[in-house]
Amino acid sequence: HNHIDHATPEKVQAAIAAGDTHTHIPDYEGYDAYSADGGYDALKSLRANGDWEEVQARVKDAGLRGLGGAGFPSGTKWGFVRANEGPRYLAVNGDEGEPGTFKDRYYLERTPHVFLEGMLIAAWAVEAEKAFIYMRDEYPAVLHILATEIAALEKAGLVEPGYIDLRRGAGAYICGEESAMIESIEGKRGEPRHRPPFVAQVGIFGRPTLVHNVETLHWVSRICREGPEVLNAVEKNGRKGLRSYSVSGRVKNPGVHLLPAGSTITDVIVACGGMAAGHDFKAYQPGGPSSGILPASMNDIPLDFDTLQPHGTFIGSAAVVILGHNDSARDAALNMLRFFEDESCGQCTPCRVGCEKAVKLMQADNWDTGLLEELSTAMVDASICGLGQAAPNPIRMTIKHFADEI
Ligand code: SF4
Repeated sequence: HNHIDHATPEKVQAAIAAGDTHTHIPDYEGYDAYSADGGYDALKSLRANGDWEEVQARVKDAGLRGLGGAGFPSGTKWGFVRANEGPRYLAVNGDEGEPGTFKDRYYLERTPHVFLEGMLIAAWAVEAEKAFIYMRDEYPAVLHILATEIAALEKAGLVEPGYIDLRRGAGAYICGEESAMIESIEGKRGEPRHRPPFVAQVGIFGRPTLVHNVETLHWVSRICREGPEVLNAVEKNGRKGLRSYSVSGRVKNPGVHLLPAGSTITDVIVACGGMAAGHDFKAYQPGGPSSGILPASMNDIPLDFDTLQPHGTFIGSAAVVILGHNDSARDAALNMLRFFEDESCGQCTPCRVGCEKAVKLMQADNWDTGLLEELSTAMVDASICGLGQAAPNPIRMTIKHFADEI
């Protein structure tokens, strides 16, 4: 489980040519199959005589929100970027470093052109001069697929050579934070920027930049092809749309499950075929370690944007981890804080020192809850970016819901 293959597209190609079967390139829909099935027709007709505001209206109507975790309305974002004078850039955040999240990989390893067409539509909508894809290096198959398929797009004349710039991340979690990603694209150390100014105003090399997550662009493409109904016709528990839940932990069939956005944790477990044998449902992480841990008793909340806010947490990128009765919530929370300690960029003291102190305090036999609470407040109030601001969530939620363990 700890093996990380730092292969590049060139290395992967060489390894495959040499008969290496270790790097598995899955069967996916390539350019020929996609275009034969009407792929890129939407992009071509938009480029020929499309109205970007009409596409923006469709995206808004579908209710599409940023699926990297922030949930910002996508169509509104296009308007913010367009409001700033060009030249503009587009950047795709494919860093997918949130532990438990693998939905972007799931889509890219199956239908990369759905994503690529969505990306080119968004680039057209904001008149981006160039599109950067920042892809995590731990996905060698995805890098191989994208390098191959971008070359096919260039050959087909759909993009100028070099218009899409495929960049490799180097394994830093913080480079999934959009402004740190932009610093990294610029060739600098990946440290989050202060805001304002927002990246829609001052992004890559000081230019207005539209940043989208991979899955968000997958849906832009589908909205253009299938209409806003592909998302807004699905309704459950008062919520509209679909969510790609990346599920792992003590379930029978872990994996990506596309379900209505109003699904509860019970629905998610049912979609996974139930709990794994010998495990009773005890607790769950709703959306990555930043979202902390909830007890099994809170099983009727729709797992969507905004719905978890009253419970002090959020759905983020919908990375659900299921814990069983033999698992310790306290150990899980400690593991999360160790992760944040390791991944803090170190730029600001509340996060850099706070994560380290939190790990020490959480290793004690009995937690000093007063001190941990005080530390959490300082981290939330004074950290520069979301990592330090959300890192105390597992601490606070363990104190609240699993007091018997600490
Ligand atoms: Fe870096 Fe943490 Fe500060 Fe974010 S909160 S800028 S990760 S030190």
